[in-house]
Amino acid sequence: MSEGLPDSIREKLKLLKAKYVQSLPERIEALAVALQNVEKRGEFHRETFFNAQNEAHKLVGSGQTFGFTGISTTARGIEVLIEKSIQEQRALSAEERKQVEALFRELALLSERTQIEIGVAIPTGVQKGYTMIQNGKSILLWKSEALYIEDLKEQIGFFGFPVEIVESIEDIKEHLDRNLSVVLVVGIDLIMDSRILEQISFLKSGSDSEKLKILYLSEMDDFKTRLLAVRHGGDSFLSSPFDIPRLIEKLDSLFNGTNQDPYHVMIIDDDPEQISYYAMVLQQAGMVTSVVTDPTNVMKVLVEEKPELILMDMYMPNCKGEELAALIRQQEAFVGIPIVYFSVEKDREKQIAAIRDGGGDDFISKPIKPEHLVTMVKTRAARIRQLRYFMERDSLTGLLNHTQLHIRLVSELDRARRLGTQVVYAMIDLDHFKKINDEFGHLLGDHVLKTLSRLFVERLRKTDSLGRYGGEEFGIVLFNTNLENGMKVLNELRESFSRIRHRGEGKDFYVTFSCGVADFPRFPTAEALVEAADKALYLAKNQGRNCVIPAP
Ligand code: GH3
Ligand code: MG
Ligand code: MG
Repeated sequence: MSEGLPDSIREKLKLLKAKYVQSLPERIEALAVALQNVEKRGEFHRETFFNAQNEAHKLVGSGQTFGFTGISTTARGIEVLIEKSIQEQRALSAEERKQVEALFRELALLSERTQIEIGVAIPTGVQKGYTMIQNGKSILLWKSEALYIEDLKEQIGFFGFPVEIVESIEDIKEHLDRNLSVVLVVGIDLIMDSRILEQISFLKSGSDSEKLKILYLSEMDDFKTRLLAVRHGGDSFLSSPFDIPRLIEKLDSLFNGTNQDPYHVMIIDDDPEQISYYAMVLQQAGMVTSVVTDPTNVMKVLVEEKPELILMDMYMPNCKGEELAALIRQQEAFVGIPIVYFSVEKDREKQIAAIRDGGGDDFISKPIKPEHLVTMVKTRAARIRQLRYFMERDSLTGLLNHTQLHIRLVSELDRARRLGTQVVYAMIDLDHFKKINDEFGHLLGDHVLKTLSRLFVERLRKTDSLGRYGGEEFGIVLFNTNLENGMKVLNELRESFSRIRHRGEGKDFYVTFSCGVADFPRFPTAEALVEAADKALYLAKNQGRNCVIPAP
């Protein structure tokens, strides 16, 4: 295919990319030093600030060049803040310093994640603090006298969302510049200044409209107020009392509407030109691709990259597509992955035979228009994602079910062995949960379980796994984490959870949990880890609950 790049250049690009990933820790470290200098100075100092801006800027450019947009956008966030202070010849405000710090933590994490994904081994124990990783999510609370804004900010903050109070349209615009996705929470009533509502809803007609969702809160739940909200760009509406878990649920669904994980497609074809063409088509539609030109590599890439769908050429030199499909299907872990043949084969009989014999799911004929390919892959990937969600997840909390969590733990331990890194496994059990059920009812008990899972989902990293063991017990796998850091994270979660306000039977109440922690490689198998964490949990209960205890 003429659109593809010549082999020699592509190889070079690949090499450069790998080198870049290797150099990331150094680049991040350089930025850390520059930012520390800014911090130490306290006051504005031209050269020091320029230096920090420059380090951030380098990451913006290089991240972009090599296709790591997360790194680029996050570094850009830091750059913008410092740029502004340089322009205004002033030091960073306390708020800005906090933002820089949060962005930097995110950057360090993205770098780490990239290293793991690309397979560059990294030393353990270098993990930076990792609360508040939100990939450019932000919640803005419109300042108002009527709502208890500070209290609302604190409660939402427990869930790990970055929350800020804003009081002007300019503030909001600034956040839209810096973030991928923003939810604006505004108190609304019939007597408020309509100019403000107009200005707010005007934001949704601009170029950032995709990024912005508006949630209106109201003391009243009447038709007129709801209509007012809808007319002013409201994506969601919540009336008092403002139960925090319900609010979080709304926020969650608003974010999920804007920020879905890209579909991950694996392409198997012996022709590198074609592969790069189709991979490019899918990437431009926002998908992630893994490509394999040598069929003998298929299993390795499958295990490492975990694609959701396979596009497979039917005729390759050493191996037919249907043979390869059968081979993949023989592995238990990949029984469910959809395989779509992708071939110039026009003979309908042969197409059907390939599906029957190899267990492929479908057939796409080449050549195909890019937009058709995108639609076909997207609809199939969406369906399989939905199916998998219901099969693998607990229906109340949406977390992995017991079986899936165990499968995940085993595969994460394999990965950790290869990378030479550590894993922490934690078991969590709610304290005196029977009493909560007895006093407030089973339905409210369910709500508490959902709140806990939501807190974990928001606060943990993407590379961590989370499951419901059953009842009021949960299991967590923290990848690339040592015991000390794992304990720290879990204690932060425990602390936050204990401060979340639940409401039932007309009164507020609080719930706590106990947690047992075990670490790999000290406990070298999944079974040993689970057993050790369970024992530690038992100790935690005996020591008075609401605590995190490591396995002895
Ligand atoms: P401890 O601090 O010792 O863990 O006390 P506990 O009351 O939490 O422990 P116990 O194991 O005796 O009781 C667990 C309770 O959890 C029993 C049941 O009422 C409740 N529970 C289990 N699964 C669910 C569920 O899916 N929904 C609700 N609402 N409650 C559940
Ligand atoms: Mg229990
Ligand atoms: Mg319990």
